[in-house]
Amino acid sequence: MSLACLVLIAFLTIRTSPSDQKPPPPLQSFVRSAAKPAAKESTAKVPLASRRVVVNEPAIRVNVTPGGADSFQLEVRGHYRMVSLSDDEKPQANFDSGSVKVTPTKHGLKCGTHEYACRQLEIIPSQSPAIRVNGHLYRGVVRLYRRTDGKVSAVNVLPVEEYLASVVDSEMPAKFPGEARKAQAVVARTYALYQAQQADSLAVYDLLSSQRSQKYLGVEYRDATGRRLAGESESSRRAVASTRGVVCQSGGKLFCTYYSAVCGGRTVEGKLVFKDAIDCLAPVDCEWCRESPHFRWTAEIDRTAFQKRALEPVSRGALSDIRSIHQPVEVGRGSIPRFEIHHGTRVATVTGIDLRERMPTGLLASPHFRIDLEPSRVTFTGRGHGHGVGFCQWGAKGQADSGRPYDQIVLHYYPGAELVTLDY
Ligand SMILES: [Zn+2]
Repeated sequence: MSLACLVLIAFLTIRTSPSDQKPPPPLQSFVRSAAKPAAKESTAKVPLASRRVVVNEPAIRVNVTPGGADSFQLEVRGHYRMVSLSDDEKPQANFDSGSVKVTPTKHGLKCGTHEYACRQLEIIPSQSPAIRVNGHLYRGVVRLYRRTDGKVSAVNVLPVEEYLASVVDSEMPAKFPGEARKAQAVVARTYALYQAQQADSLAVYDLLSSQRSQKYLGVEYRDATGRRLAGESESSRRAVASTRGVVCQSGGKLFCTYYSAVCGGRTVEGKLVFKDAIDCLAPVDCEWCRESPHFRWTAEIDRTAFQKRALEPVSRGALSDIRSIHQPVEVGRGSIPRFEIHHGTRVATVTGIDLRERMPTGLLASPHFRIDLEPSRVTFTGRGHGHGVGFCQWGAKGQADSGRPYDQIVLHYYPGAELVTLDY
């Protein structure tokens, strides 16, 4: 079956044995030792009256040019076909290995010297992985889109398990223990499948390849100096294969498994940060991320620069000098810090999230900090790295180091959730 046919319709299609009419359980229960395909294992255990529940392996659509591009370099190894994705436009062509620049035209796309009067093209290689976009090598197929804003996008479409092999290595250091990386695979799988399920019917992709979704570097990539680096490894493929199909669910449904690098001692109430956060993104204690250099951190900025960045978005006209800063909400209670900045005769209320966005990129590792106002500078004393909601990657490392298995690690961060195996 071509990858195009596997896309989300297939993902949600549930096939059941025709000989049985009883309603099935939502999915088969998670079995801790389920390192091999769960279908065979569970068939022997379920009563004959029960139905087997099977889903087709979903494909994931990843936008590998987040934000769109004016052009990008496309390289294909081996023979490939280029076909239009629109019914009314049928350009189809066959090519052999080559490298071309993809640019938008007024009505379509240009690849090297070939112009196509269509806005959507799919590149189907005869082998996989075979396609590079801007130096990143991808499995599966790549779709090219001419966007309405005149830019071009490349979307990689591939089976979810192949996608995850790169996400695990892109998101978590290779030196982290195996159970932590398996936990990462489960969390990333759930995140991806949930996003695919939520995607608008007109959307042409489910996820971005950047940290705005989850990082995905592909099979390998070239850095700025042209050096080739691996985007997946034997170890990441093993972490994915040994948790094949395992996802988190709540009330029989996938949910958005938000995660971050370091929670700093306690995770954050999801609903304070994300509109679609559900109840099991509740704050939990986590002392396992102590080893991280970001468990506690400090940062500083010039006081004038702080004043300008913190207040400019809320002040109209001239800025008044900051007199004091109060912090009515304590750091580390599972909530988002709030600050009252007294400037001139006014008070501006801002959150840790606001300030993190307004300060220079990378200055504040998380929105969880306190502020000390000094005569010429402002110092921040913070905890954690990232938003702090849900699964804590360094915490997973700490738990794995102390002998906890991946299922316990995952469920610690999503209290009330359960793990189930999608049988594909
Ligand atoms: Zn933690």
